[in-house]
Amino acid sequence: MAFESLAERLQDTLKKIRGKGKVSEQDVKEMMREVRLALLEADVNFKVVKQFIANVKEKALGQEVMKSLTPGQQVIKVVNEELTALMGGEQSKIAVASKPPTVVMMVGLQGAGKTTTTAKLANHLRKKHNRNPILVAADIYRPAAIKQLETLGKQLNMPVFSLGDQVSPVEIAKQAIERAKEEHHDYVLIDTAGRLHIDEELMDELQQVKEVAKPDEILLVVDAMTGQDAVNVAESFHEQLDVSGVVLTKLDGDTRGGAALSVKAVTNTPIKFAGMGEKIDQLEPFHPERMASRILGMGDVLTLIEKAQSTVDEEKARELEKKMRTMDFTFDDFLEQLDQVRSMGPLDELLGMMPGMNKAKGLKNLQVDEKQISRVEAIVRSMTKQEKQDPSIINASRRRRIAKGSGTAIQDVNRLLKQFEEMKKMMKQMTNMAGKAKKKGKGF
Ligand code: GDP
Repeated sequence: MAFESLAERLQDTLKKIRGKGKVSEQDVKEMMREVRLALLEADVNFKVVKQFIANVKEKALGQEVMKSLTPGQQVIKVVNEELTALMGGEQSKIAVASKPPTVVMMVGLQGAGKTTTTAKLANHLRKKHNRNPILVAADIYRPAAIKQLETLGKQLNMPVFSLGDQVSPVEIAKQAIERAKEEHHDYVLIDTAGRLHIDEELMDELQQVKEVAKPDEILLVVDAMTGQDAVNVAESFHEQLDVSGVVLTKLDGDTRGGAALSVKAVTNTPIKFAGMGEKIDQLEPFHPERMASRILGMGDVLTLIEKAQSTVDEEKARELEKKMRTMDFTFDDFLEQLDQVRSMGPLDELLGMMPGMNKAKGLKNLQVDEKQISRVEAIVRSMTKQEKQDPSIINASRRRRIAKGSGTAIQDVNRLLKQFEEMKKMMKQMTNMAGKAKKKGKGF
């Protein structure tokens, strides 16, 4: 998966500062050194890295301390905000012409994924925006391109306009737009020719198509796997054609992420979509904010902190934390916590916001079944006071009684008890880790 090593490095760095009650200038400096290296290793443009670090430093040090967050969390917040800004800030949407059809010209080097993306985009427009696009085969040089688009069109049951490979792309574009008007297509997606390298001839031809088609949007398709090359390609295309948006393809591959993080800053052109696979439905609108929190692996940790603080009684939270650390955590605490968490909102939404949750093995695609939670709650409520305080006394006959009382099966009771034990073990590990970190004088 893209960004893996960058994400890992940044997360490791940020973890060190997360729990800190005090962050010194030296802490920020050290952290920024590591962030800088991580970004450079991820193949982010060095000028972009320099600016990024300067911005974070300035903001992190100059910021007033907010009550709701620890200084460590605040630094993470700044990194998150800057990373989001770097990738464009707000999500940038595809153009809509005031008078249909909206003409979109797809440009890019050969092999970047232009033809595939043209079909994916048509599918996206129809499915998510209820549009009725027509595809235009104007790549007359790559022998298989027309056929490829036609096959994709057939697969989507969508019209493909083609005049073969003997008519000029300018003429094809012109006639295609006329056809779109006649047939009331609201989007015209023109798949233009690509080359292996940028050359003058290609740019001239694209200029001519642009003049005739008067596109509302020129989307440049670049292959994220090519890293800095993708950024250079984007720069040249942008200079010559004034590109309005970028589609980054192959973000499902193990790209280091440099292209995604540099292209907006270098070309000032927003990334509008990301290709996440070869299949026709694997195109996603690009959300800088989501991408940033994915890279930082904190889900939506700040929202979670804010949410938690407005709902959870702080005194109780501290008490609970102490209990967790000292292993006094009982089923009574468990029930209380369940109530508090419930008052914060739907459980799967909350879990999605928890740091590391998206990464934890077996928790991918986790769906929280509220019914399952109610079952768990029923089991716990069927325990006696003594059992809740000390689950180790729950023997076979007690298990049978609890299952009966809660209307569940013995297996359910067994499973819960086992999970509870595992959870306690995990807490113990965390406590040990925290203890070690403290000894070293580092926050956790
Ligand atoms: P074009 O020469 O730019 O038109 O490139 P194509 O559309 O023919 O794509 C080149 C190759 O990249 C094909 O094998 C596509 O299936 C593949 N491809 C395109 N987009 C993606 C993507 O987002 N992820 C992956 N894994 N492969 C992609």
